[in-house]
Amino acid sequence: MQTVRAKKALGQHFLTDESIALRIVESLDNEIRNVLEVGPGMGVLTKHLVTRSNTNFRAIEIDLESADFLHQNYPQLHLIEGDFLRLPLDNLFDSPFAVIGNFPYNISSQILFRVYEHRNLVPEVVGMFQKEVAERITAKPGSKVYGILSVLLSAFYETEYLFTVSEHVFNPPPKVKSAVIRLRRNSTSQLDCDETLFVKTVKAGFNQRRKTLRNALKPLSMDIDSVPASLLSCRAEQLSVDEFVKLTNCLLPLNQPA
Ligand code: SAM
Repeated sequence: MQTVRAKKALGQHFLTDESIALRIVESLDNEIRNVLEVGPGMGVLTKHLVTRSNTNFRAIEIDLESADFLHQNYPQLHLIEGDFLRLPLDNLFDSPFAVIGNFPYNISSQILFRVYEHRNLVPEVVGMFQKEVAERITAKPGSKVYGILSVLLSAFYETEYLFTVSEHVFNPPPKVKSAVIRLRRNSTSQLDCDETLFVKTVKAGFNQRRKTLRNALKPLSMDIDSVPASLLSCRAEQLSVDEFVKLTNCLLPLNQPA
């Protein structure tokens, strides 16, 4: 039997409101046939997903007790017992798949970084996050909460804040409100710049978000002479994806003539 502390570490707050569960599942694009649920728990979303028409559905759950419950109650469910963060995604389905879940809040950023890395396999994500995280992911330039994940994800996804969920519809209730968001893959297949440098630039910019980019980019040790002064005098939170791409293209290795 797992201890209460171990359960808490798994971010187990079970949704008890059936109408919200249905609303989350119905937020998935009807055309999507392959669906992976992360952390089905006691199956409040799962029950709608196993019966979704024309759906090739799988779920991954790390908690043994929840997995036993799911096996007993949903014998038709293709359940993978394990850690989503270690699950090889490349051959999970034979074509792209959506990711859905009332996600464990302690690993929400890691889940989203995996989605970012596998963006060509994941056309859509519908999920519940801590409200603050949901706001950050869907934030637009100029917002105080616009950050690394907002930029990286919006480079490849349309991000939408769908609705807020009260802490009172969970058992046990979390300390904070939650929110459901949707990410839909946009048409960008590749960024118009070196992507590794783009990611480093975005991270450096936000690591010192109160500084102007002229100062925040110093740890990159790149030649910034070709970057327009209008960009260098901004803070990272002011830049759109396109401006970060432009900035990345202006960075040169040190000592290389422009
Ligand atoms: N979907 C259920 C619901 O809405 O009531 C449970 C949601 S609960 C917030 C998060 C679930 O994710 C728990 O069942 C927990 O055991 C599971 N979980 C936590 N970490 C996980 C991981 N790394 N991989 C897969 N499942 C995980």
